[in-house]
Amino acid sequence: MKSQSEDQHAAITNSTNESQTKAEVAVPEPARPEPARGNGRPLPASVLTPPPPAPSPHLDDYRNIIGQGLLDSLRFLSRDLKGKSIKMVNSTAVGGGVAEMLNRLVPLLSELEVPTHWDVITGGNDFFEVTKAFHNALHGSSYHLTRAAQEIFLMYNEQNRERLQFGEDLVVIHDPQPVGLIRSREKGKASWVWRCHIDLSNPDARVWEFLRPFVEQYDAAIFSSQSFARQLPIPQYLFYPCIDPLSEKNKDLPDAVVQRICDDFGIDRSRPIVTQVSRFDRLKDPVGVVQAYKLAKKYVDCQLVLAGGGASDDPEGAAVLQEVKEAAGNDPDIIILDLPPWCALEINAIQRASTIVIQKSLKEGFGLTVTEALWKGKPTIAGAVGGIPNQIIHKLTGVLVHSVEGCAFQIRYLLTHPDFAKRIGSSGREHVKENFLMTTNVKRWLLLFRILERSKSRRGPGR
Ligand code: UDP
Repeated sequence: MKSQSEDQHAAITNSTNESQTKAEVAVPEPARPEPARGNGRPLPASVLTPPPPAPSPHLDDYRNIIGQGLLDSLRFLSRDLKGKSIKMVNSTAVGGGVAEMLNRLVPLLSELEVPTHWDVITGGNDFFEVTKAFHNALHGSSYHLTRAAQEIFLMYNEQNRERLQFGEDLVVIHDPQPVGLIRSREKGKASWVWRCHIDLSNPDARVWEFLRPFVEQYDAAIFSSQSFARQLPIPQYLFYPCIDPLSEKNKDLPDAVVQRICDDFGIDRSRPIVTQVSRFDRLKDPVGVVQAYKLAKKYVDCQLVLAGGGASDDPEGAAVLQEVKEAAGNDPDIIILDLPPWCALEINAIQRASTIVIQKSLKEGFGLTVTEALWKGKPTIAGAVGGIPNQIIHKLTGVLVHSVEGCAFQIRYLLTHPDFAKRIGSSGREHVKENFLMTTNVKRWLLLFRILERSKSRRGPGR
């Protein structure tokens, strides 16, 4: 069937053929309507304002997902901890993965009768400028650590030490910003644990040497990946990041909701959909994804959805978004969405509508988008970097790629081998269920707390 634009094109061609002598006369361009789909379609009004916060789930709400057995094991593990309490301390109550995770973890531990309190440290702009610079330096960027920066860091840590009480049995300090609170540790009382969420594999040496003496005073440190850890004289534990299967981003959705959201964004569910969800950041290689799609598209029909965010308030993000749009050109099957940060439900629906999910990162921390895709049973293609190989066991729970061509090959392969795609999708979901769900995270905290309590009673008072 011919499209309307083909008909228009034919009409223009015929009329110019009929009047050959007037061929040089410029034919006015027909007015272009707003593109119905593809690059440039405006966002639907429904996503322009944040939705109200969703209510927190209770432990029993997870039964259908994880089964009664795991729920019982959580209750069993918490039994010996009744009457004991936990304090979590981090540097922000909203925004970022740590706050999002604590928002769920704290009520779940409390529901297990292990009362868990969450405190947020305070500081002036000077403190957060220093800690942001430390954060970047710990990730390997070059930085000149000054005496003034050290003093600002120490001064705010002291202020928070005076402000906060530490009467709990386990104190967990998240990330470097509040690491100096360890000076409030009293011998023989609480166990103190440093939970590091960032990649310390290649830190600026001076910043790390400044922080290390604090870290060494803790009873244990927790890292998110084997490769993120440092040599330390204290026990180290591995806690993977996790997703909450009941969050707006990951909960099951009725098909009608998925359909409505796809309609809003101009995504055609009757044809294969290949998606990457990620910030418009070069390390996520969105241009590489467009190139891979274009190579695959020579052989298989599909649409590409690139859903990201942050481009409006990040100059680098805006530049990357522009590069992606240029790479996409005017292909109506490439749908680029620059979403506001509250679009969890929309991302959930887009991931669920996808035939394949890609995360073609060139560098990655853990890659929560991979966890989210695997949890939705999606055949997932991802760069073999950072924490991604912990999640994707090649050809078992997804496929790993190292190049644009490799990615294109896998798009084509998965779209033409639906049985294999389905199999890796369902193994991926099982892998997430076992290792990367919030409930597994709760279990790890309970186990660690029990271990620390036991070693505290063994070492007796005084240390
Ligand atoms: N995300 C989002 N909106 C976007 C892009 C990403 O909410 O426009 C979410 C995504 O679903 C995931 C998280 O942000 O939960 C990104 O985490 P990931 O570990 O994949 O990458 P990071 O952005 O932390 O490098």
